[in-house]
Amino acid sequence: MSVLFISDLHLSSERPHSIELFLNFVRDEAVKAEKLYILGDFFEVWTGDDYILPEFEPVIEALKGLTSGGTPVFIMHGNRDFTIGEEFENKTGCTLLDDPTIIDLNGTKTLISHGDTLCTDDIEYQKFRQKVRNPQWIQQVLSLPIEERISLAKSIRSDTREKSSQKSEEIMDVNQSAVEEIMRKCNVQQLIHGHTHRPKQHTLFINNLAAKRIVLGDWYESGNVLYCDKNTCTLKDYN
Ligand code: MN
Repeated sequence: MSVLFISDLHLSSERPHSIELFLNFVRDEAVKAEKLYILGDFFEVWTGDDYILPEFEPVIEALKGLTSGGTPVFIMHGNRDFTIGEEFENKTGCTLLDDPTIIDLNGTKTLISHGDTLCTDDIEYQKFRQKVRNPQWIQQVLSLPIEERISLAKSIRSDTREKSSQKSEEIMDVNQSAVEEIMRKCNVQQLIHGHTHRPKQHTLFINNLAAKRIVLGDWYESGNVLYCDKNTCTLKDYN
């Protein structure tokens, strides 16, 4: 049985294909898995556990079916869905993980993260992140009426899109020193993250030993999945 990793599905009513792809993936692949890890940006936007948008109801059901069938599902916040909370855990049976978290992946100590904290060259984004990830700010937003939360999310999203379009590819990628620093600090030779939508397995050196940084891709067209068995990890597209 494989341990599966996915991220950056960005599920939204604007992309019904991705929702369908995920539901098929649960039915065909995730049910056979030992565990499923979702490393952030599962939803394009999450407006709070108390109001489930109708398009997400089948997704919640699928997750619930998966966990009640005996497949553990772990989910981490991304920069889009960081308001996922305890009620979501209760509804789906998923377990929320801190970003980053160290796991034992088939005997290899592995650091998992959404990945946005590693993009330290994007100073403007890091400032924004500090503001919106403040628990007080989150609490304030979640106490707004749902219509206001939806319009706030929309305005943040279009603002982010506009800013991103003005930034270079390098600025929005991870910073190599930030990667090495956290891997050294956590004493790991393997890191798995998403966020940049640049699926690839990178080799690097940590403490003079070969190490791996595996980047998950998005689900805009096909679903990018990392399958890890006892010997190796492989990135594949799920169609
Ligand atoms: Mn992201």
